[in-house]
Formats: sequence, structure tokens, C-alpha cells
Amino acid sequence: MAKLTLEERFHDGPPARPPGEARGWMTAEERRFILWAFREQWPAARIGRALGVNEATVRRFRKTYWREPAVLLELALFEMVGTPKNDEFRCLVCSDRVLGRSEVEEHIIEHFVGDRRPPVS
Ligand SMILES: [Zn+2]
Repeated sequence: MAKLTLEERFHDGPPARPPGEARGWMTAEERRFILWAFREQWPAARIGRALGVNEATVRRFRKTYWREPAVLLELALFEMVGTPKNDEFRCLVCSDRVLGRSEVEEHIIEHFVGDRRPPVS
């Protein structure tokens, strides 16, 4: 069965964090939500409120993946759809199909880092 795209996962709301949970780190699902929300043009403050985390935590995560885009590849943002032989992947950000693992990895990074200027704060 096909995995859910970010849009399918989050259009009804963010992943729930148990009330009163104050841990400083975020789950992979929370990080995926942040990525989705930035693509939807949400400001960091709104993302923080939705997740129940500090706005600074949201900004810090964005800074981290700008500095080191490889962290985006740890978030399972694509799935294999071809056979190992034809090496085809589906992007869970935009649903496009991409041939080749390094190509899909580059494709994922472009979604979030691309050629925009890095965030100021
Ligand atoms: Zn894509």
C-alpha cells in the first residue's frame, strides 16, 4: 500500500503531543509536519503553536536542515515504488515519481532548501 504524502498526513492537523509533554526534542512526525507547514507558508510561530513546541525549536530545526540538508533524508520522505531493478521512487512531498536513489534524494532536498536564501533567524 502506498504511503501517505505530507499533505494527506497533515491537512487535518498536526500530530498530537500529549498535554504537558515538555520534552525539547521532536519526533520525526513532528519534523515532517514542520516541513509541510513551511511549504504551506505558515510562520514559525503558528507552527510552534500547532505542535505545542517553542517557536525557537521550529526555527532551530529549519536552521539545521539548511545547514545540513542530509537530515531531511532521515525523515522517510520518499518511498520505493519500482522494482529494485528499475529503481523508481515516489516523493511523499509532491507525489512525483523519480528514477534513481540519488536523484530522489536531491529532489527531496530541493523542496526545502532549493535556491531560496537561507532563513535570517
Ligand atoms: Zn517532490
